[in-house]
Amino acid sequence: MLKLTPLLLALIYGFVLYWFSAWRTAKQLEAKSTELADPLLRNLCDRMAASLDLPRIRVHIYEVDPVNGLAAPDGRIYITRGFFQKYRQGLVNADEMASVIAHELGHVALGHSRRRMIDFSGQNALRMGLAMVLGRLLPGIGVMIANLITRVVAAGLSRKDEYEADAYASALLVKAGIGTAPQKSLFGKLDRLTASNAGAMPAWFMSHPKTADRVAAIERNEARWAKVDRD
Ligand SMILES: [Zn+2]
Repeated sequence: MLKLTPLLLALIYGFVLYWFSAWRTAKQLEAKSTELADPLLRNLCDRMAASLDLPRIRVHIYEVDPVNGLAAPDGRIYITRGFFQKYRQGLVNADEMASVIAHELGHVALGHSRRRMIDFSGQNALRMGLAMVLGRLLPGIGVMIANLITRVVAAGLSRKDEYEADAYASALLVKAGIGTAPQKSLFGKLDRLTASNAGAMPAWFMSHPKTADRVAAIERNEARWAKVDRD
């Protein structure tokens, strides 16, 4: 039991951290957001809602500058003010904004936003457990190796989530008659639009696998779906 105590403490610490950051995020988002009212975007949201048999898809504007979309742990969808400005400036069109909303809906529908918060606390527990063991075996570098392993595991998890949310978005956009073209054209712009984001975002904000890989994955899905339709 004595041997397990540090691990147990690490787990409890991770859990407390998880609840605290979930609570803080919810508070911050609520305090700094308003509901999206743009008629063109509302119309696209209504079309997607109809495809999902939902009465309405609520989207909020989060009053921060970095360009991003977010699915909060409580299932609410946010577009940042910075992103909305790019739309108002004509740098991103309404269909492309709809593709972001569809992507975030994917995170909600597939349970990512909750799981990612859990992953976050799980990551802390994993990091601390590994650091404890490796730190003893390899004094000095053990902790660094533990951090590295944790980061690789976490990156793999979030990449998988991104591809799944993209696939969900593609299916929804096709069903709503919007199609996947805006999803792909947005990826072409995303690197440039988010260039100033570095380091400013909480952990569960859109993380970006290579955009070319994401476009290729969408095209593979489309080819597969086209084949299923023919069969
Ligand atoms: Zn995402």
